[in-house]
Amino acid sequence: MAKPKVAFYWNASCGGCEEAVIDLNEDILKVVEAVDIVFWPVALDFKKKDVEAMGDGEIAVSFINGAIRTEEQEEMVKLLRKKSGLIVAFGSCSHLGGIPGLANFWDRETIFTRVYKTVPSTANPNGIVPQQKTNVPEGELTLPEFYDTVKTLDQTIDVDYYLPGCAPPPDLIMNAVTAILEGKLPEKGAVLAPEKSLCDTCPRGEKKPEKLSIKEIKRPYEIIPDPEKCFLEEGIICLGPVTRSGCGERCINANMPCRGCFGPTKEVIDQGAKGLSAIASILGVEDEEKMTEEDTKKLIDQIVDPAGLFYMYSLPSSLLKRKRMA
Ligand code: SF4
Ligand code: SF4
Repeated sequence: MAKPKVAFYWNASCGGCEEAVIDLNEDILKVVEAVDIVFWPVALDFKKKDVEAMGDGEIAVSFINGAIRTEEQEEMVKLLRKKSGLIVAFGSCSHLGGIPGLANFWDRETIFTRVYKTVPSTANPNGIVPQQKTNVPEGELTLPEFYDTVKTLDQTIDVDYYLPGCAPPPDLIMNAVTAILEGKLPEKGAVLAPEKSLCDTCPRGEKKPEKLSIKEIKRPYEIIPDPEKCFLEEGIICLGPVTRSGCGERCINANMPCRGCFGPTKEVIDQGAKGLSAIASILGVEDEEKMTEEDTKKLIDQIVDPAGLFYMYSLPSSLLKRKRMA
């Protein structure tokens, strides 16, 4: 019997999701045994024309990581959508926009000016920025269009399932592959991870005081957090209350607060706004009566880069999606 065909593709991402596949270690042998990998540009020499030559729906499932930032990425994911039975958005950038999505606080022009002209380490006296078409003696060179706005995968094509995380952990990847092979998938649109919030599974959750009140906000580098205490108790912002569990509490176990890479739980529409509201509800509540407006402002000002912090992984998928440029 022919094995199901599987494709992997990457867009605007760091490459960590590709490594997550390799992190399956010996389990990758089981995957390779069960499926036929027909497209995986980072690891195997297949070309776009090989995908174009396939029949519609011929690929059983395409795992696509990375956000959509360029014309080429849009073209490739549309091609993969046509050729695939199932599309799995693999990892935070594809699922929510991820770290590349923070670029939605700017646009193409401001990014190009910064990267190619004003960064102190860049020597570019003629102020040359990438052009879509360049003529050289050998002919015309082309680059794909770099869009103003970073999009999630499902803002570009129809997505069947989401594997969250920066990067998705090996056990969730294996569970997803097994569910696909056994035809035991949940309903379309599901996030293939537990429904509970990270606080529900966090070992520090049980020790969290009944009533939390942050008097002073600290950044992780400013103190050595007590590994027995909830980060919020120590004044360190942790997005565990508004983040889906399933990562194995990776950051918490390394004594670092959660930054939300697994995305929101089912009930949460806008992870950043919900995180902001959760933290706002415990800022100085113990001293609420005594606090002046100035005290409140001082406390809020201790949150460095609130937009970048609360929307670290989810800006393109948020209600705002991007900053409005003047
Ligand atoms: S806020 Fe963070 S440290 Fe505290 S219980 Fe939730 S996930 Fe754990
Ligand atoms: S603790 Fe938070 S940021 Fe860290 S891996 Fe888990 S979900 Fe992602």
